[in-house]
Amino acid sequence: ESGKWLQIVSSFAKSLIIGFFYFYKKYLQKIFLYGNIFNKKGIIKMEKVILITGASRGIGREIAEKLAQKGYQVIANYNKSEEKAQELKKEYSNIDIYKADVSKRQEVQGMVKYIIDKYKKIDVLINNAGISISGLFTEATDEEWNKIINNNLYSVFCTTQEVLSNMIMRKKGCIINISSIWGLVGSSCETIYSVAKAGVDGMTKSLAKELGPSNIRVNSIAPGIIDTDMNANYTVEEIEEIKEEIPLERIGKKTDISKCVEWLIDDEYTTGQIISINGGWVII
Ligand code: NAP
Repeated sequence: ESGKWLQIVSSFAKSLIIGFFYFYKKYLQKIFLYGNIFNKKGIIKMEKVILITGASRGIGREIAEKLAQKGYQVIANYNKSEEKAQELKKEYSNIDIYKADVSKRQEVQGMVKYIIDKYKKIDVLINNAGISISGLFTEATDEEWNKIINNNLYSVFCTTQEVLSNMIMRKKGCIINISSIWGLVGSSCETIYSVAKAGVDGMTKSLAKELGPSNIRVNSIAPGIIDTDMNANYTVEEIEEIKEEIPLERIGKKTDISKCVEWLIDDEYTTGQIISINGGWVII
């Protein structure tokens, strides 16, 4: 008789232990690791709402995926790459997508209104969208100037302004601008791009001073060369030559940038800084 009871008690204990480990793996471990909370649907979710511009491809997409994997609510902005953006939405329940050309004020206003109506706030803005066009300065046209400045600099001015009213009201926010080493040291045949990125860094420093009292941090990440479509025009030989100039002997990966973004989101005392992630290519 007592042997039968012992069997029942031990199988009950076994299922309790297995059940606990299943629950731990599925939910508790993530809470311990990331401080996540449950939302109404029972999906583990972090409280932060994050807008990333230009998140359909390249660095922006990598950042969107990393932050979604951490459980944040991500809004991935895109412009032309509809299909790529839809893929993201399908893959992650906590990635929402929004089509807007961030060089156009009205489209940015529509996007920010959509986010505030739906999620009530924006905790983090990552100004990542950008384009590069190269060519001799003496041959550059007004049209090229406007295109590069509007897509790389005006877009940051415009998106930041539209998002700020919510951040200032809540006395809380984190803005991360993706600039470039060329804004720091200049680049032959990419003068307008360099002007735009230097402008972004200037905005970062000034806004850090203006918005510090509102508890809003503003920083730039200035990447070196990163393996994305933006550098697809380089030949294998050209990439090898560039690698030889880089102390860490490789070009950057998209994850080299997303790791820094994750850190800047968690950080509380860094503002007005231009963090250049470039393998030592440029040291200033
Ligand atoms: P990428 O692979 O060419 O991707 C650019 C992204 O920006 C795409 O998702 C594109 O969206 C979006 N975009 C461009 N113009 C836009 C607009 N007006 N409105 C909304 N989205 C727009 O470029 P990447 O290499 O990831 O570059 C990302 C950022 O890093 C850029 O600011 C770039 O200047 C900077 N950066 C890159 C490198 C590098 O070596 N790759 C180095 C230094 C700095 P759609 O395709 O949907 O239009």
